[in-house]
Amino acid sequence: MATELKLAADSRQPTPQSLISGILLEALFDHAQPFYLTDSGGSLIGYSKAFAKYSEGLFGAGTSLMAIIEQLYGERHEIRRTDSIGEGVDARHFTSRHFPINNANGELIGFCGIYDDITPHTKAARKTNEIESWLQDVIRSASDWVWAVDHHYNLTFVSPGISKILDVTTQSMIGQHLFSLGDFDADDIASIKTRTDFECRASFRGRTFLMKDSQKKMRHILLSGVPVFDDFSGQFTGYRGTGTDITRRVEAEKLAGKAKGALEKTYGELRTRNEELLIALNHAKAAENAKIDFLATISHELKTPLNSIIGFSDAAKQHIHGPLDNAYSEYFDHIHNAGQHLLALINDLLEPTNLQRDDLAINTKLESIESIIDEALSLLDIEGVRQNLDLSALSPRTDLLAYCDHLRTRQILVNLIGNALKFTPDSGGIGIDVESRADDVIAITVWDTGIGIPADQQARVFDKFYQVEKSVLSRGNRGTGLGLSISQRLAHLMDGDLTLVSVPGRGSRFTLTLPTSPHRT
Ligand code: ADP
Repeated sequence: MATELKLAADSRQPTPQSLISGILLEALFDHAQPFYLTDSGGSLIGYSKAFAKYSEGLFGAGTSLMAIIEQLYGERHEIRRTDSIGEGVDARHFTSRHFPINNANGELIGFCGIYDDITPHTKAARKTNEIESWLQDVIRSASDWVWAVDHHYNLTFVSPGISKILDVTTQSMIGQHLFSLGDFDADDIASIKTRTDFECRASFRGRTFLMKDSQKKMRHILLSGVPVFDDFSGQFTGYRGTGTDITRRVEAEKLAGKAKGALEKTYGELRTRNEELLIALNHAKAAENAKIDFLATISHELKTPLNSIIGFSDAAKQHIHGPLDNAYSEYFDHIHNAGQHLLALINDLLEPTNLQRDDLAINTKLESIESIIDEALSLLDIEGVRQNLDLSALSPRTDLLAYCDHLRTRQILVNLIGNALKFTPDSGGIGIDVESRADDVIAITVWDTGIGIPADQQARVFDKFYQVEKSVLSRGNRGTGLGLSISQRLAHLMDGDLTLVSVPGRGSRFTLTLPTSPHRT
């Protein structure tokens, strides 16, 4: 082709261009877009520099200039083509027109081809396509609805998302007035203002727009929009914006609001109830304190004459002022026993009164277990009461010390030993074991081979006023059912415990544990 061009250039014939001055023609050929001229036989008689530059690429693959000329020769009218040179980003794109040239008599004198380099347009068009598809993606993913209206507020663009929400076609929405499809939420002050903004052609953001779907169900759309003005004239041309379906959120908020209301109501009721309970509790506490004071006074008032009864009956029993008739002696025995029993009952009743007070004094220090046991035994006068019981294991010799309140520990042991005596028949035995446990604890177990306590009642014997009603022995018990509950409470106050292991018919083991040092963890 290069040779063909060169030859053709050398054999230039006189043409219309020869009428133009050589310099001008040179300039035209140097700077014009790609073009060529041939004579009627198809031989090149002229071409621009640009044509020379691209001709190899343009006619490289399969198409030759001769083929185009032959086609023109046959058809005798203009041919339009699009050609590309190279690939990828460096590719160049051309459109071209090829046409026959006739003289004034209509005779064919040659052919001409003119090329337009459309590479920049092609690139721009491609860029535009890219931007458009990018925009479509954003529209699809960023919001449910992209919309545009003209200056009459008639919809000119509706993205497909909204048609799913409303169950109507986008086509049916195009051309409709925006307010014929819905309106800003009248309950939302900001939205009412937006209607004004909208009509004043101001931009707005996140306003609730209510639209009914095909089922007449109200949908809540959060609408944003900006007015559009013509770049040149500055005239208002419409609005465009986005919308997001927030119906679910609005419904959820309504439900949450209802639930919150119900909760607040319940909370209010609870608070009132709580206040009522607090008042009732204060009343109960006041009543309880009054009862405690009353019981303490009664106990004191009863114990004063009772001490005289016990003291004088004891003196009479011992014939301090001379011998007594046997019958009278028996009466004084009864008076003395009854007096003792009454005193035990009063003491028991007085104790819970004390125990319910927070200021119950517990004075703990290291104490000899042996001496506390001895004191408890002497208080109970066991030998005199039950001569047939086996008491050989009742006075263990031990040098163990426990960190406890002397009087309270003695009180617990008196109660446990007293119970063992009450609930063990003559043929049986009672005893006390003392041992030091690895966890810095002293365990004092008061055991008996008596009637025992059924498994289902073992925990309950520590409840106030609870008594096991079963055997003849237990029925004979004239206690109050308070001793064990008081004893366990005292054990806890001393950082210890009181537990029970018992087998009905075989006996019971009550174990009092006490610490060996203060502030055990
Ligand atoms: P009280 O002995 O004054 O009735 P307690 O609280 O000391 O009250 O004892 C509660 C009940 O536990 C007794 O009534 C009795 O039924 C049962 N109980 C206590 N100790 C024994 C025991 N060693 N053997 C059998 N039952 C006992």
